[in-house]
Parts: sequence; C-alpha cells; structure tokens
Amino acid sequence: MRADAVVVGSGPNGLVAAVTLARAGRQVLLLEAAERFGGGLRSAELTLPGHVHDLGATVMAMALASPALRGLELKGAEFAHSPVAVAHPLDDRPAVLVHRDVRRTAAGLGPDAGAWLASVGALVKAGLPLVELLLKPLGPWPVAPRALAGAAWFGPMAALPATTFAKALRSVEARALLAGMAAHSMLDLRSPLTTGYGLTLAGLAHLVGWPVVRGGSQVLADALVAELRSLGGQAVTGHRVRRLAELDAPIVVLDVTPRQLLALADLPAGYRRRLERYRYGPGVFKMDWALDGPVPWRDPAVAGAATVHLGGTFEEIVLSEAEMAAGRHSPRPYVLLVQPYAADPTRGGHTLWAYCHVPNGSATDMSDAIETQIERYAPGFRDRVLARHVSGPAELEAGNPNLVGGDIGGGLAGLGQFLRRPVWSPAPWRTPLPGVFLCSSSTPPGPGAHGMGGWQAARLALRS
Ligand SMILES: Cc1cc2nc3c(=O)[nH]c(=O)nc-3n(C[C@H](O)[C@H](O)[C@H](O)COP(=O)(O)OP(=O)(O)OC[C@H]3O[C@@H](n4cnc5c(N)ncnc54)[C@H](O)[C@@H]3O)c2cc1C
Repeated sequence: MRADAVVVGSGPNGLVAAVTLARAGRQVLLLEAAERFGGGLRSAELTLPGHVHDLGATVMAMALASPALRGLELKGAEFAHSPVAVAHPLDDRPAVLVHRDVRRTAAGLGPDAGAWLASVGALVKAGLPLVELLLKPLGPWPVAPRALAGAAWFGPMAALPATTFAKALRSVEARALLAGMAAHSMLDLRSPLTTGYGLTLAGLAHLVGWPVVRGGSQVLADALVAELRSLGGQAVTGHRVRRLAELDAPIVVLDVTPRQLLALADLPAGYRRRLERYRYGPGVFKMDWALDGPVPWRDPAVAGAATVHLGGTFEEIVLSEAEMAAGRHSPRPYVLLVQPYAADPTRGGHTLWAYCHVPNGSATDMSDAIETQIERYAPGFRDRVLARHVSGPAELEAGNPNLVGGDIGGGLAGLGQFLRRPVWSPAPWRTPLPGVFLCSSSTPPGPGAHGMGGWQAARLALRS
C-alpha cells in the first residue's frame, strides 16, 4: 500500500496519531509488533478461558479527561463507573473513600475536609480547562482564563513533594490518601511534583471519575482501529519495524521510547547523546488473578471501588517508595490494585490485577509480598484464587518493548524529565530526521492512556 503516513506502534498514542492523520485525509499505515493492537490497552485471557484481563491500563480517568480522545467521539467504547472511585483501606479504622462528589469525599477526612476542598476542590472548580492545560503544557493555546488562573494557583502547590504538602494535613486518612494518589507517579514521595500528580489524579476522580472500559480496555483499542479503517487506513499486527529505512512515507510517527528510537535509526550525534541521557523509571511487578468471588475486604465499603490503594499509612507508603527509589525491594510495598468487576460485570468472572513498584529491571519475585498486603486488608483472599498470572519487568518488556525494564511510564516522571521529555524543546515530538515524529509516553504529557502525545505529534506532522 502507498502510504502518506506510517505509524509504528498501536498504543493509545500511536492509535490517536493514526486516526488524527487519517481524519486529515492522509493514507495511513499502522504497523504493530504484537499480535493484537493496543499496547497498554490490550486485554487477554491471561488466567482461565473466558476471564478477560487488561494487560496494561484499566482505569480510564486520563482517557475521559483527554481532549484527544474525547474529540474522537468513538463508537463502541463505553465507560463504566464503580459506585466509589477509589478506596484506601487502613488497619484500625474504616477505609478512606474517594467519591465522585468532592464534598462527600472531604466529609470523610475529618479535620482535613477544608484542606481537601482548598486543594483538590479548587482544582475541580477550575475544571477540565485546567486539566487540558496540564495535558498540553506546551500548547496549542489560547487557554480559558479560568484555566490560567487555576494554573497560577495550582502550579506552586503541585511542584511540592508530597512529604511537604502532607505537613498541612493532620488526619491519618487524608495523609494516607495523599500518599496513595501521589505514589502513582512511581517517584520517591520526597521528590518535587509528587503533590501535583496526586492532587491531579484525585481531582480527576471528582471531575470525570475513574471508570473502566466495559468488556476490557481492548474494546477502546479496537474502536480506534475500526475508526482508522473506516477512514481508509490500514492496520497490520505482527510487524515489528527494525529500521526506519524499511519505511517509505513522507510522515513517520513512532510510538516508541528513546532507547528504541536509538536502535531504529542513525541519528545526528547531538540528538543521539540527548536521547542516551534519557532516564527510565522503576519497573512494576504485576499479578493477575481469576477469583471464585469478590475479594473479601474486611471493610465492605472497599468492594465498591474499582481502584484500591494498599500500603497503609502515609509513613509506610513514603518508606516503601523511598526503598524502591533507592534500588531496594520493600517487604511491605505500596500496592495498586484494580478490581474491574466493581464497575463492569462483563469480563467473565471476578478478575483482578495488582502491581507494586520495583527497581528497573528487577528479577525479584514480589508475589508473596503483594498477596500478603492484600490479605492484610482482606483475610481469606488467597482462598478465593482460582488461577494467577505473574509478570515481572522482563515479562512485561517481552510483551511490549516500550516497557523498558518494566517501566510502565515510558521514562522517569521527575521534574527533569517533566520539562525535558525526551529532550528540551518547544516541540519535543519532532526529531531531527525530516518527517519523523515521536509520540509515545516518553513525550509530553507523559504516561497514561490519554493519547495526547499521538495527537500532538500528528498535529505537528500535518503542520510541517
Ligand atoms: C500494568 C500497567 C497498568 C497500567 N495502568 C494504567 C491505568 O490504569 N490507567 C492509565 O491511564 N494508564 C495505565 N498504564 C499506562 C498506560 O498503559 C501507558 O501510559 C500507555 O499505554 C502509553 O501509551 P503509548 O501509546 O505511549 O505506548 P504503549 O501503550 O506502550 O504502546 C506501544 C506500542 O508500540 C508497539 N511497538 C513498539 N516498538 C515497535 C516496533 N519497532 N514496531 C512495531 N510496533 C512497536 C508495542 O508493541 C506497543 O503495542 C498502565 C500500564 C501498565 C503496563
């Protein structure tokens, strides 16, 4: 097929790039190395026949907030919300719950209700225009004045380490909740920006919810592929691109991380050196289970939340993430758990996944530590397990080369690489090779199933 544009890789960024280019009238060819489209949006029967598991993203807050995905108005992908967005169980008291309603959530935080409303509540008031600004920090602008005012207020607070922001909080509940949210960043919680990651994710729970895709995230990937094909685009699986020289098109958009780009092409020395300095973040150790019923949470309210943060108090989570950042394995890790059945009963039974953070490339088996953390809040959990599937960093990378050393974020998300992703540039999606663009989560705005990198790269390609 003659193509005006080739997109390499079909994660959410590659898919959005392909559809954006096709909607602009380009003949698009999408090449995917794996046997299924979707990258971090794939689903598969990992444990038992009929049990649908997401291999990557399940929680679609970023997708719902993303102007790139919302703008596509896709048919076929339906979002399902659990009664509670997020739960954070604690040993000696009721779980902390994040509801869609910010005031209801604040009411559960005792003396910190006011602090929640003044921080997360104010983000909610600034609304989606502020979130859009965070998702496209380099433009295109103009931005709604409300978003700029929100950014001026939110920016300085967001830049703080979570450990600094936590000094303003008094309750065990609010502090634990902050740590659980901020730890999504996979950073040491003493690092700048961790407050921003935590508060933004919490704000999204109130603004758009933390839904899942009915039937599995693969449904969203398939809807994007269907849209591409309906526009005349071609999409091919099982085709791994090894050298850019194989491709013959005026536009090439790459959904790959810097290390892969280095292997794909001969790059000018200066750019090559900058990419070689790019840093990958910690890895994850992921487990998937098929259960014979719901997780037997000690606090039944936790059953209503699709996402559960495990790891106990603020201090425990700070310690576990500091251990991981120092290259060690925490015996009581922070565990991010997703029980999609709380929102979506159509996945063929009670499927569940959880991961903890580990040093990049770690070969340590964390299954016992993860299951022990679940048992801590759900005694009898192990008795419910029908089958389990374990993926350490090596298995994750074997299934998707973008997960370098098990890093699911496409590179460290600390302050340096927030500004320099993957290089310092007003248009970091552009490479020095004519017509070649990078769109993965190693470009702004970074990790998450939002497709914004793909949208930005396609936009830039169309303009050039
Ligand atoms: C376990 C896990 C849980 C997650 N949970 C969430 C969540 O709940 N919510 C959320 O928003 N995000 C989550 N994420 C993160 C999210 O999945 C990623 O940020 C997102 O998928 C990144 O999209 P991408 O398009 O940049 O790359 P990817 O989704 O990683 O896709 C890259 C694609 O490119 C293909 N590819 C690479 N090299 C080549 C080549 N040379 N030739 C052809 N094809 C190639 C790969 O096979 C892959 O399909 C999770 C990720 C993981 C792994």
